[in-house]
Amino acid sequence: MVRSGVLGYPRIGADREWKKTLEAFWAGKIDESELHSRLREIRLNHLRKQQQKGIDWIAVNDFSYYDHMLDTAAMFGLVPQRFAYDGGNVPVSVYYGIARGTKDAVASEMTKWFNTNYHYIVPELGGIEPTLAENKPLAAYREAKEHLGLEGRPVIVGPLTFLTLSKGYDPSETDAWLDRLIPLYVRILQELEQEGVSWVQIDEPILVTKVGDEDLRRLERIYGTFAAAAPKLKVMLQTYFEAVERYRDIVALPVGGIGLDFVHGRSGNLSSIRAFGFPEDKVLGAGVIDGRGIWKAPIRERLALLRELTDAVGEDRLVVQTSCSLLHVPVTAAQESKLAPELRDALAFADEKLDELALLTKALSLGEEEVAGELEACDRVLSRLDQWGDRFRSDIREAVASLSSQAQARNRPFAERRLVQQEQWQLPLFPTTTIGSFPQTDEVRKARRLWRKGEWDDGRYAAFIREQIDTWIGLQEDIGLDVLVHGEFERTDMVEFFGEKLAGFAMTQNGWVQSYGSRCVKPPIIYGDVAYRGPMTVEETAYAQSRTARPVKGMLTGPITIMNWSFVREDIPREQIAYQLAYALRQEVEALEQAGIGMIQVDEPAVREGLPLKEAEHAGYLDWAVQAFRIATSTVRDTTQIHTHMCYCEFHDMISSIEAMDADVISIEASRSHGELIHSFEAGTYRQGIGLGVYDIHSPRIPAVEEMTSMIERALRVLDPKLFWINPDCGLKTRRREETVASLRNMVAAARIAREKYGAPIR
Ligand code: GLN
Ligand code: ZN
Repeated sequence: MVRSGVLGYPRIGADREWKKTLEAFWAGKIDESELHSRLREIRLNHLRKQQQKGIDWIAVNDFSYYDHMLDTAAMFGLVPQRFAYDGGNVPVSVYYGIARGTKDAVASEMTKWFNTNYHYIVPELGGIEPTLAENKPLAAYREAKEHLGLEGRPVIVGPLTFLTLSKGYDPSETDAWLDRLIPLYVRILQELEQEGVSWVQIDEPILVTKVGDEDLRRLERIYGTFAAAAPKLKVMLQTYFEAVERYRDIVALPVGGIGLDFVHGRSGNLSSIRAFGFPEDKVLGAGVIDGRGIWKAPIRERLALLRELTDAVGEDRLVVQTSCSLLHVPVTAAQESKLAPELRDALAFADEKLDELALLTKALSLGEEEVAGELEACDRVLSRLDQWGDRFRSDIREAVASLSSQAQARNRPFAERRLVQQEQWQLPLFPTTTIGSFPQTDEVRKARRLWRKGEWDDGRYAAFIREQIDTWIGLQEDIGLDVLVHGEFERTDMVEFFGEKLAGFAMTQNGWVQSYGSRCVKPPIIYGDVAYRGPMTVEETAYAQSRTARPVKGMLTGPITIMNWSFVREDIPREQIAYQLAYALRQEVEALEQAGIGMIQVDEPAVREGLPLKEAEHAGYLDWAVQAFRIATSTVRDTTQIHTHMCYCEFHDMISSIEAMDADVISIEASRSHGELIHSFEAGTYRQGIGLGVYDIHSPRIPAVEEMTSMIERALRVLDPKLFWINPDCGLKTRRREETVASLRNMVAAARIAREKYGAPIR
């Protein structure tokens, strides 16, 4: 009998009740016991739902109070020393302190979970002796069994993935850390074994990135020890997000099953199975239902794949699974009543994916005739989507084909543009600017709410936005900034805003996914060819420019960022989607230029995170990312200055691609990487305008002039003063007005000091 499996279910709840509970607790509106009981109810509901859908292998311990990496660290008592903790179960206050900071201690860093938009808390290992504070997987298993009679499959982050993603130790100490952690894992597993648990899911997604000989030896040690210590407990060694590296070595490890991703790592995993077979003593977890995408699966095609896999491993050794945890998709498409039926019926969020798993297992065990009706329904829905009007626009396809096949370049190289731009703009040495957004105050949010509800008409809302622009243009002049911005008051979110204005996009009502902690995002859906419908940002930008004699920088979100932060169609390659977006943005760039805007920033904060997990694919991705940026920005006049902005990540390994984008000025987040980024410019070959953020906008603290001066000094050791800009790290929308004004005044003071030191105007 073929079984079905789910690797993890979204935590947030259909009405984001998880988020609301956490936030109510943080705000002091509910006490700790209420927190525990509400979260237990949410957790059990999610398990019950999967149980009712007939899923055989349901993950327990996938639930979290914040993040599963933080849970793993807390389970091992790995609490950074700056938090007051003296062993034992990590109290909720300490747990949330690590995640969110306390008044005495800064939060741990967070970063992206592989190439997803989920952020985990980075464990800090330095100087702490791990212990087993709590056997969380066991507690989760017991709870599910007691309340639901469910034989759950506890899930744990595996030791190699956990260590690789942690920080605070030197790579040379990896084995010493394994010596400390393995015995703790062993205790967890032995206790599970004693409890009568038959399978445990150990997630090792790190195995899809790079597995060196050393890692392999470690894996043999880890899983060899586990097998010897808990021989009756079977381990499903789970990988996801790409094809597993070193297939033959990995499937030879002493575990009960191997979980592979046949959606995102399909061709690699499949060709490995075809070439080398699959060991007879193991179960294959076949991840065929996409845990990251939102579209219904082509069921017939998946059945064909599963039949091939069954031939290779046998029915009894196959589990039909999600490709990864369903954490990355919204909960249910059932509430999306406002979407066109062509689109809505083709969506599969987490709950619909449970149905797909059930359907696949049924078809495999009872034969396709038994599910003929469902298969036809699936065909119908998918072909209706394919044939839907906006899906294909020949005008867009033609324009994009011709643009993307030609080299895209500005009229003149940067060195020449720079001179005409200097002539045009007469900026001082070390021009000062900001990254785009100014504080999104309660007042701004309230105005938008009233307008969306229809209580304010368009005119009233537009007048309100103009007032905000007036205020901030005035403030920026008063502070003494050189290049101003309008402040982005009309935008909730830098991707949603453009999604609402371009053709080919749809917005869900409830398509939330967890981004980090309680923060959820609602990515737009790109379902059709993207097309420009008319000016999107011209009105506000031109208005701002009309209020000042200083240059106002237009503000757009770049093609790669819009794509990476949306759910995208899967019938055309991602690069085509990026080019379509670029083509639309190019028209907006031209419209801004025509309206008299001479500086235009195209933000690409998400370029780095879109890098494929396999190194061999990096160059190809970067090539088309650069091409997309150039399509969007290269038709402007020589005097028009193109800016870009990047943040959230390390960029040192892609400086040459950043240069190839050929923006006149780039601002990159640098203050949090403590100068690491600066090293990458040591070669001294970077020849374009650049602003390395001189202060961290993520903190409410007002940085002193001297701090910024020292950041500037450090940067100028490797960067040409004539090309250096002074700006904060990122947009200021999360800051309060007073903080923002005070910080920017200090920044302008630091710029003046630098100007005095480095001399007169450029040239
Ligand atoms: N222009 C955007 C802002 O200032 C950039 C945001 C970002 O980099 N994430 O808000
Ligand atoms: Zn930023």
